[in-house]
Amino acid sequence: MSHPASPQLPIVLTIAGFDPSGGAGIAADLKTIAAHNCYGIAAVTALTVQSTQGVKSTHLTPAATLRAQLDTLAEDMTIVAVKIGMLGNKANAAVVAEFLDRAQIATVVLDPVARAQSGGAELMDAAGLKFLREELMKRATVVTPNVPEAEALLGMEVKDVAAMEAAARKLVELGARAVVVKGGHMEKAIDVLFDGTEILHFGGEKVKSPNTHGSGCTFASAVTAQLASGRPLREAVLLAKAYVTKAIERSYAIGKGPGPLNHFYRFQQEPPARGVHEVPQHGMHPASEPGVRG
Ligand code: PLP
Repeated sequence: MSHPASPQLPIVLTIAGFDPSGGAGIAADLKTIAAHNCYGIAAVTALTVQSTQGVKSTHLTPAATLRAQLDTLAEDMTIVAVKIGMLGNKANAAVVAEFLDRAQIATVVLDPVARAQSGGAELMDAAGLKFLREELMKRATVVTPNVPEAEALLGMEVKDVAAMEAAARKLVELGARAVVVKGGHMEKAIDVLFDGTEILHFGGEKVKSPNTHGSGCTFASAVTAQLASGRPLREAVLLAKAYVTKAIERSYAIGKGPGPLNHFYRFQQEPPARGVHEVPQHGMHPASEPGVRG
């Protein structure tokens, strides 16, 4: 039996680690990509052991397996954009650099993940971070470090917005085409974009919520999906920031540590107020309709 085909969605690849609590990494990426009307596929760089309380250990995918995942997907379908998150080590980062050269994907968003906000085991070793700085950044359309990641990449202190601007300029000097330094760790959540020509600030009220686990992954995936949908970089960053802010406002307190964002807040209705019962719709089973006895 044949079925009518669904409209083609832009295919977005995430290359990242798996967080079993579903808040960060691959799970956050696929939810974000789906929420932006794109189709998400994933190559897994690592299995992590973690909950909302932090990362206990990481188990890296062998480089040959990562390469096979990437090539198998790319042989089968046209990937419009790729988001790169946790890579773990230099061997996996090198596989990704070679893949980018082979696959020639138009849009590459690089989130230089080094350590989870919730702490615990490191998500990238020192040799991997050096390789990322020297080899991966120049292959990226945009790089999205938070303040601690910008500090680690540049070996400089970033304490205010002026230093965020200086860091963004330095990362472009190192080869990135554009950089967003995210200010979520600062007192005011201002993000700084440098596109190689102009510095732009994206302001926003800092949401008072402890549930921000995976916000970096979510932001980078939202930027990727917006670019895959044809939006220019500035608009993609603006929309991604607004999405993350709302997803934190509507986040879930599911564990003992910082909970995950609500990636599907746009699709969920408010639950009815207590004591207000929804009126059943016609067309339901007669026994469930008011006044009808089965
Ligand atoms: N990638 C993986 C697999 C992770 O487990 C984490 C954090 O736990 C991250 C990335 C980075 O998370 P965040 O977006 O909170 O910085």
